Amino acid sequence: MTAVTVAQSLQRAQTLGLARIDAQLLHLHVLGREPHDRAWLLAHDRDELPAEVQATLEALLQRRLAGEPIAYITGFKEFFGLRLQVDARVLDPRPDTETLVEWALDLLPKGCTHRVLDLGTGSGAVALALQHQRPSCSVTAVDASANALAVASANAQRLALPVRFVQSDWMAAVPGLFELIVSNPPYVADGDPHLTALTHEPLQALTSGADGLDDIRSIVAQAPSHLAPGGWLLLEHGWDQAHAVQDLLRSSGFEAVQSRQDLAGTARCTGGRLPG
Ligand code: GLN
Repeated sequence: MTAVTVAQSLQRAQTLGLARIDAQLLHLHVLGREPHDRAWLLAHDRDELPAEVQATLEALLQRRLAGEPIAYITGFKEFFGLRLQVDARVLDPRPDTETLVEWALDLLPKGCTHRVLDLGTGSGAVALALQHQRPSCSVTAVDASANALAVASANAQRLALPVRFVQSDWMAAVPGLFELIVSNPPYVADGDPHLTALTHEPLQALTSGADGLDDIRSIVAQAPSHLAPGGWLLLEHGWDQAHAVQDLLRSSGFEAVQSRQDLAGTARCTGGRLPG
């Protein structure tokens, strides 16, 4: 292989079609550096890449060009300050979902001992972020997928966070009452053209019937019998689903129904409170 500098290799990756940030993250990964270390790439732009690093990088560039999320290629994702291990068994945690975590934290005063339930935990992102921020709360996380629970419980163990995991179809196998239920459920409509960009992620974590609301309907129907009086249900949903989710919550008897925007200004989460 001919000698290639860091700068030339980054440029080539972008010429092939990678976003600049993705090219940088993959270079840092093969060079064994932290994702925060982008300044290192600038400081070392004239360094030559060893041949074996070039070969490894080439394979990873091809995977990214085929649409695989960076998180699956590097094997981890930062979420709410936690380093989560992720792979194709679980959805790649999105920054949008930090909106759900922030809202939940507003409802969990520091030091409170609320019981919190995370439905469809996937990698464990939401449950682990909440347990990390509120060590005094008792957090339970549910998924229907044994594969997802294996990823989530490995993350909990690695991060030494005492989240309880239950395999359950939504609340079917979950005992007890909770002060707060949160969920980032599947909410994309079957056949949504957007899915062609998401073929590397588990479809069961993404789609939910003709209008994308089947799972949200189930959760809203089941939640009242699993919430303590005055308890809250918070749901993440699609960019155009806030009104539909508000209606579902009101029809199930929830009060104070409202939505919150993500960083892009999209109404991304909707929630309500069970009467006290
Ligand atoms: N936010 C994801 C997307 O549209 C979907 C996640 C989900 O269905 N929970 O790419």
